[in-house]
Amino acid sequence: MTIRCSGGVVLMTHEILNNVRKNLQAITPYSPGKPISDVKREYGLKDVIKLASNENPVGPSKKAQEAILTALGSLHRYPDGGAVDLKAALAAKYSIPTGQILVGNGSDECIKMISETFLNPGDEVVVPSPSFSQYWFGTQVMAGTSVQVPLLDGFQYDLDAMLAAVTDKTKLLYLCSPNNPTGTYIRKDELRHFLDQVPSHVLVILDEAYIEYATADDVASGIDFLKEGYNVLVMRTFSKMYALAALRIGYVFCREEIATEINRVREPFNVNTLAQVAAVAALGDEEHVETSRALNSSGYEQLTKGLEALGFSHIPTQANFLIFDTKLNDKELFQLLLEKGIIARSGTALGAPGYLRVTIGSSEENQLFLNALELVVSKLRQKV
Ligand SMILES: *Cc1c(COP(=O)(O)O)cnc(C)c1O
Repeated sequence: MTIRCSGGVVLMTHEILNNVRKNLQAITPYSPGKPISDVKREYGLKDVIKLASNENPVGPSKKAQEAILTALGSLHRYPDGGAVDLKAALAAKYSIPTGQILVGNGSDECIKMISETFLNPGDEVVVPSPSFSQYWFGTQVMAGTSVQVPLLDGFQYDLDAMLAAVTDKTKLLYLCSPNNPTGTYIRKDELRHFLDQVPSHVLVILDEAYIEYATADDVASGIDFLKEGYNVLVMRTFSKMYALAALRIGYVFCREEIATEINRVREPFNVNTLAQVAAVAALGDEEHVETSRALNSSGYEQLTKGLEALGFSHIPTQANFLIFDTKLNDKELFQLLLEKGIIARSGTALGAPGYLRVTIGSSEENQLFLNALELVVSKLRQKV
């Protein structure tokens, strides 16, 4: 049925709405960490700090900023669809052939491209839980079925359970290490044992968005396993350590035959010029990486000491954020922090009810967070 107003303009066509693919109905728009500007406006606050999206508090590399300025004059040209310079830089840094590299408009686009390449309706995708919500999203868009496998106590991976969840219909299996939102990781020996048993029809995707922050000796690096010939696709990003989240750029290392297939669904100019030149510059800025790493480890110490003093114990992390058991209503805690100008993430929103996730910020930001937490927690603890 079509409803027209007097001029004959179509106001609403129910038939068209009926045509929308049914699998999309389960999808609600991603709810990101609240932007600073929104919180300032909503609560009438002057100073707001955001520790909600695992952004690098150091800010972008100066070299990346210079590269962007230099590229501004050529914005009338289409970007390099093949991302030749960036692939060459990644190839040199990680000793991997350029044919095994794909670049995306953020890892988010990489996840979507992988889903589009492999999933037919009803196909299964095994995902850990809690983990990054985009795995579920990419699967749902293609009318696939996400099979969620809970992490163990302390948010350790249950790789045996993930293996047991694989069926003939499984096409993809996601691992995230260090895992968002828990900061826990997969060891080399665990990953080898796992990959040795995964059926050959399953592509294992290892999301390493935070790997540049990892310091433990036994953290698995997907690139090593890819080079050994294992059936694994490694996904990384410039949004976290490389501090270019606003530009949207991530990449994939995989077998060349798989890259060729994923390339079929890639838009010709999916990654913009500023992102490409900035990524090349950031990749070459070792000093920026070292500064960021050092700030993260001192911030981690500062936050964990402060949390301990307030009676909280945290889950050990290998990333630039940590999660801790609030023993309170985490949504309420999140809200009260927000009203004090601190944006964190409630565990409930991330699949870890009772917990709060906080990004490791600058030392000033960490201190402001701890100060606000102390005030808010004493209020909430009085209630219980
Ligand atoms: C932040 C994050 C990414 C990066 O996504 P982009 O689209 O590259 O910004 C990927 N995976 C996980 C688990 C993340 O937390």
